[in-house]
Amino acid sequence: MSETQAKSNDAGSTQDGADGSSGSDASGKAKDVRRDYVVRALGVKKVYEMGEVRTHALRGVDLDIFRGEYMAIMGPSGSGKSTLFNMIGGLDKPTEGMVFIDEVDVAALDSYELAWLRCRKIGYIFQSYNLLPTLTALENVTMPMTFANVDPDEARDRGFDILQRVGIGHRWSHRPGRMSGGQQQRVAIARALANQPAIVLADEPTANLDLKTGADIIAMLKALCAEMGVTVISATHDHKMLNICDRVVWIRDGRIERVEMREDIDIEVGTISGE
Ligand code: ADP
Ligand code: MG
Repeated sequence: MSETQAKSNDAGSTQDGADGSSGSDASGKAKDVRRDYVVRALGVKKVYEMGEVRTHALRGVDLDIFRGEYMAIMGPSGSGKSTLFNMIGGLDKPTEGMVFIDEVDVAALDSYELAWLRCRKIGYIFQSYNLLPTLTALENVTMPMTFANVDPDEARDRGFDILQRVGIGHRWSHRPGRMSGGQQQRVAIARALANQPAIVLADEPTANLDLKTGADIIAMLKALCAEMGVTVISATHDHKMLNICDRVVWIRDGRIERVEMREDIDIEVGTISGE
């Protein structure tokens, strides 16, 4: 491990230590296996300026995300989840601090490199699906492959395959307007996985879905990503996420309140209000 990594490791363990459950700790057991970081945020601050108004959306976030884990970023509306999501996903840059994706400093990339990173390494899933309405389900899924210069025949084969895997292979020729919300989100998941990314970022993926559909979608996302070894980072205030994530980051007013392992929140799941 490099010196820089070792240093920022310390930054992460401070925050890990807050929950008393992760971190390198004296026992040093199983945890060491997970010390392969796919994303690291160091002292990330974000200030939005609109005229006279300055909003401190993130006030200094340190966060290490392990390869292959399923992380939920939980917090009330306005707490900074989407802002953090945008930083981690290379969609926006911090006002202060650094974000590393697969050990690459996002701020150091030019626009071409950033586009490459977004296209190949990251799959995005949004609350409102963001499918292109004039394209079929299959075309929506193959589009990112086209951007990644995948051969059209191969893109088509892979597109069919992944649509089957999300359970809507038979709808490949349908346009989004003829699909339910759940079906559209399945297409969006297929699109996010199209280029076999290292990370899938999902911002409130179940917010527009009913409870049962939302739960099905999350279970499917979890299973697919586990199978493919993809890291999932999901910003949400949907407590169903608690049942399946590996870790939860609780964020409030632009700061991380605590980080918990899934097994440590068992008791709380049934007692959180609003579910
Ligand atoms: P969440 O996703 O948890 O609801 P956001 O990250 O969207 O929270 O927002 C955090 C804070 O930053 C809020 O006060 C919000 O109004 C503000 N904010 C978010 N995006 C912008 C923006 N583009 N311009 C100005 N303020 C913003
Ligand atoms: Mg949001």
